[in-house]
Amino acid sequence: MRGLEAWEIEAALSPSVVAVGFSVNAASIVDLPTAAAVCRAHGITLIVDAAAQLPPKENLKRFIAMGADLVAFSGGKALGGPQASGILAGRRDLVASALLQQLDMDVAPDTWLPPKLIDRANLRGVPHHGIGRGFKAGKEEIVGLLTALDRFVKADDAATNAALEARLRAIAAALNGRDVMLVPAVKTGRVPVLEIAVPDALAFSARLQRGDPPVHLSERHAARGILTLDPQVLLPEHDAPLVEALRAALP
Ligand SMILES: *Cc1c(COP(=O)(O)O)cnc(C)c1O
Repeated sequence: MRGLEAWEIEAALSPSVVAVGFSVNAASIVDLPTAAAVCRAHGITLIVDAAAQLPPKENLKRFIAMGADLVAFSGGKALGGPQASGILAGRRDLVASALLQQLDMDVAPDTWLPPKLIDRANLRGVPHHGIGRGFKAGKEEIVGLLTALDRFVKADDAATNAALEARLRAIAAALNGRDVMLVPAVKTGRVPVLEIAVPDALAFSARLQRGDPPVHLSERHAARGILTLDPQVLLPEHDAPLVEALRAALP
C-alpha cells in the first residue's frame, strides 16, 4: 500500500491484535515511521519483514533504529548463507519467545536449564511442543549463517560493486548496438544491474530460459519491455557464455 496513514492501522486495531507486520522495501520504507509511531503509541509489537533488504549492510541495523521491535532477514538470499536459514533480530524478550517455541521440550520442566537468552522468571511454564518446533533452525544452518554474516559484514561493498560495474560494462560493450543501460549501485541501492530493452520481453525471456546454458534474467520490468541482468551471483567465468547466449537470442 502506498501513502499509509496512521488511521488506517488504528482502524484495524482491536484487543486481539498483538502485533503489526510490515513488509519493508525501497517503496514502502517511507511509511515505516508511521507504522512504528502507531505501534509505539498502542503498545503493539512491530514485526518487519526485511527478507530481501540486503545489501546494503547498513540495513542490518536500520529498521531497528527506525522503531521496529523485530526484524527478519533471509539467510539464503544476498547474505549467501544456507537456504533454510534467517535472522530474527530485535527485542531480546521477543527473540527469546520465538526461540522458546522451537525447543524440544521432552524434558522435565523441573530439571530444564533454559538457554541464556530465555529468562525463566518471565515464564508461567514451558511449552512442551511449541508452535515453532516444525520450523526449528538446525545447528548446521546456524553455523553456516553466522559464517555468511561474518563474510557479508566484512566485505568491501564499494570494491565489489566497482568490479561488478566493470563486468557489466564489458557485457554491454559486447552487446554493441543493443538497447542496454547500466544502472549503478548508487541508483539501485544494492548492486549495479544491466537493463536490456527488447520487444516482447517475456517471449525473449522464455527463449533464454530454455537455452543451453539456460539464462535467467529478472522479469520485474518486463511489462516495460525490459529484462534485468542482476549480477549478484554471476561468476566471472559465466560472463562469456552469458554474452554468447544473449547475442544468439537477441533479435
Ligand atoms: C524472500 C522473501 C521472503 C522469504 O524469505 P526466505 O527466508 O528466503 O524464505 C519473505 N518475505 C519477503 C519480502 C521476501 O522477499
